[in-house]
Amino acid sequence: MQVKEIRKKKVQPIDCRHFIDGEYIDSLNLKTFENINPATEEVLGKVAEGGKAEIDLAVKAAKKALKGPWKKFTTKQRSDVLRRIGDGIMKRKEELAALEALDTGKPFELALEMDITRSAYNFYFFADFLTSMGGESYQQDEVALHYSIRRPVGVVGMINPWNLPLLLLTWKLAPCLAAGNTAVMKPAEWSPMTATVLAEICKEAGVPDGVVNLVHGFGADSAGSALTEHPDVDAITFTGETKTGSAIMKAAAPTLKKLSYELGGKNPNIIFADSDLDEVIETTLKSSFMNQGEVCLCGSRIYVESTVYESFIEKFVAKTKELQTGDPFHPATKVGAVISKEHYERVLSYIDIAVEEGGTILTGGARPEELEKGYFISPTIVVGLDRTARCVREEIFGPVVTVLPFETEEEVVEQANDTHYGLGATIWTNDLRRAHRVAREIEAGIIWINTWYLRDLRTPFGGMKQSGIGREGGMHSFDFYSELSNVTVKL
Ligand code: NAD
Repeated sequence: MQVKEIRKKKVQPIDCRHFIDGEYIDSLNLKTFENINPATEEVLGKVAEGGKAEIDLAVKAAKKALKGPWKKFTTKQRSDVLRRIGDGIMKRKEELAALEALDTGKPFELALEMDITRSAYNFYFFADFLTSMGGESYQQDEVALHYSIRRPVGVVGMINPWNLPLLLLTWKLAPCLAAGNTAVMKPAEWSPMTATVLAEICKEAGVPDGVVNLVHGFGADSAGSALTEHPDVDAITFTGETKTGSAIMKAAAPTLKKLSYELGGKNPNIIFADSDLDEVIETTLKSSFMNQGEVCLCGSRIYVESTVYESFIEKFVAKTKELQTGDPFHPATKVGAVISKEHYERVLSYIDIAVEEGGTILTGGARPEELEKGYFISPTIVVGLDRTARCVREEIFGPVVTVLPFETEEEVVEQANDTHYGLGATIWTNDLRRAHRVAREIEAGIIWINTWYLRDLRTPFGGMKQSGIGREGGMHSFDFYSELSNVTVKL
């Protein structure tokens, strides 16, 4: 189907069932919950509500599949399967992008260009990586030769958030399969559709039954915690809120699971006076409001050197006002709806808090007047807040940024690091030495100089402090999804 047609028909939403041992199934008790379109507040369809029983079935299938035909797949065969999954995603990219837009409220164009294309690329990347990676060996004089072998960790549980549903799920599933594991995926309850289609794509690509399983449902006291607590799950890879990460760590402790965490962020975007302001503003619009600000890497704390503060604000506010908020399927839309009523109210409550704490809203701050339905919030810029204000310190995860002036490099570094988060940071300057010096001082796992969101999948991705544990990307992903054994041969 062509993109134009999709826009017109807006693609049919799907009911979402679990996918266990190669088959779509309902919950054993037939329980379902409603999936809501955040842009229209209408029901998109039903989602099977899984719990302990369905997780048990999925884990059993995944455990059995570890010893099935999948175990005998050669490196080349696994790589070929990954490539076919990538092709399967690309073949259905418009449909998947439309489902993602319906599910999450994000602009269709963004889903197409970013979420879905990158999801396919996650498979292509690990298909290549798998066939080119080497191992470790050490010659110990004339005494011994040591070499390492990799084997799968086993059954991997994947718990995902709703902001980049397919992109983040495939970022886990591709290396998980590349390393020969089996998976039980638990997508976010708010965004279940593309994961449901992915299961079918995997089957069509030749993934043996039981290798990829999917259980829908909620987190705490539901499918999420059942997966985390299951004794036959060997590893959990989790992306989501910091406080959920803490709950998962507790629940996984009795069975000592291997854990990988990608958690929240409150990332500084530091703008020095010597940077090119037009370039800064173009990128800052994206790092502030892309995906409605619902990206863990968004630079929601903007710090501007005081000598250019006024001119930055003037241009940034003017450009922000030009961003069209509304129908995710309208080609001009840059900001869609936030994920849910609950999240909409939470983001708006932060705007109220900002005003109570003495902040001034320069633009946005509410739902666009012309939109009667849907969880839309105009891109919002807040100034005049103290560094201790909640909006400056807490992750809002919506289209709301704060801008604060600074005087010196030391002062801005100190403010940027004054947080329990440590995910990303952007530094804008044309002073080469300062750029590297500040990058070294900023406590974050992902640091960009004069850019934002630029990624190479070989590089380490992840957060420090309370933004994560472990790194993903290239060999780092392989290190999580495989166990290393060292073999020593006496010579
Ligand atoms: P969330 O933590 O509320 O939920 C994430 C997933 O965890 C969902 O599937 C949910 O059902 C499940 N879950 C919730 N409680 C659980 C429990 N007790 N046990 C097991 N599973 C549980 O997060 P969210 O609201 O879906 O996503 C937004 C958050 O994700 C933000 O904090 C954002 O910064 C973070 N995030 C981080 C990255 C990163 O790479 N660091 C990427 C995207 C999003």
